[in-house]
Amino acid sequence: MYQASKTRYESMPYRKCGESGLKLPAVSLGLWHNFGDNGDFDNMVAMCTTAFDLGITHFDLANNYGPVPGRAEENFGKIMASTLKPYRDELVISTKAGYTMWEGPYGDFGSRKYLIASLDQSLKRMGLEYVDIFYHHRMDPDTPLEETMGALAQIVKSGKALYAGLSNYDGETMKRASAILKDLHCPFIINQNRYSIFDRGITENGLLDAAYTEKKGVIIFSPLAQGLLTERYLKGIPDDSRVKTDGRFLKAEAVEKKQAQVLALNELAQERGQTLAQMALSWVYRQPTVTSVLIGASRPQQIIENVGMLKNCSFSQAELAKIDEIVK
Ligand code: NDP
Repeated sequence: MYQASKTRYESMPYRKCGESGLKLPAVSLGLWHNFGDNGDFDNMVAMCTTAFDLGITHFDLANNYGPVPGRAEENFGKIMASTLKPYRDELVISTKAGYTMWEGPYGDFGSRKYLIASLDQSLKRMGLEYVDIFYHHRMDPDTPLEETMGALAQIVKSGKALYAGLSNYDGETMKRASAILKDLHCPFIINQNRYSIFDRGITENGLLDAAYTEKKGVIIFSPLAQGLLTERYLKGIPDDSRVKTDGRFLKAEAVEKKQAQVLALNELAQERGQTLAQMALSWVYRQPTVTSVLIGASRPQQIIENVGMLKNCSFSQAELAKIDEIVK
């Protein structure tokens, strides 16, 4: 039977989600890839226990993670039942709804109908009574913001989620949503958005500044640009990499296009005494508004390496300028 490491809380730092009382580890683990039908179950368990032993208390899911949609939640439910259940109160488990999940007009976007039904399905798949954070996964241009936020507030009131979050919102819309949720006394505490050395979108769409002024947390997804900002593709495209095993989101063309930049960034990382993955993660975590970096992994060793980023999270002005110059 799994016994969590006794040293699991000795080195991981935890930051509060904005001004809320909830703290998240510097590194969190996401189950978007490698936890579906194409993954090996023993490896999934090993990744979760390796993470938890390192102080990673936060596991992030969504209704549609697979393949097939829903399978990552089912597999995580099995991992909970077989391994992590005794530690439920030490874990922050999140899920989301907002992308296509089932056929017809009620399985997508942001209606009250979709969000409430989807969370009920997610809880069933994971065998949980509640999630810690429930996110609306993406902005919905067709549903009034009041309705979507009302659904989040109702979900939290029902006890099926402890906190509400928003994902892929821009700064302006997040501020409007935040005001509605405040009126509804709903504990909206965190945003989940993409940010990396290669993708500065949240500094351009106002989200990072808005999170600071609204005193909300920010958890960053794809901080490694899905593996591009690691040593994975330094010498071509390995057969067991995400590009080869699931080329839907990260494509070979992107790897080829970024090759020269990746090599230059890798040299800088070596000068800093880090791997490229560690430098990419510490570059994100250096921002005080960032609560946690949300990584994905295909094997336990990657998680161990990535947590090693904590040994050096400070950058000189010259290093920051060099990174900007490389990716210009
Ligand atoms: P990353 O940018 O961290 O990419 C993870 C991938 O990079 C791994 O699967 C692995 O790929 C590779 N990798 C990781 N560490 C290393 C290492 N040390 N050395 C070499 N390769 C490494 O994040 P993801 O894109 O996976 O996203 C992370 C999480 O964010 C998701 O699981 C999900 O929870 C969340 N997310 C949320 C979204 C949203 O809309 N809210 C959208 C996307 C993600 P390989 O398989 O090649 O080994």
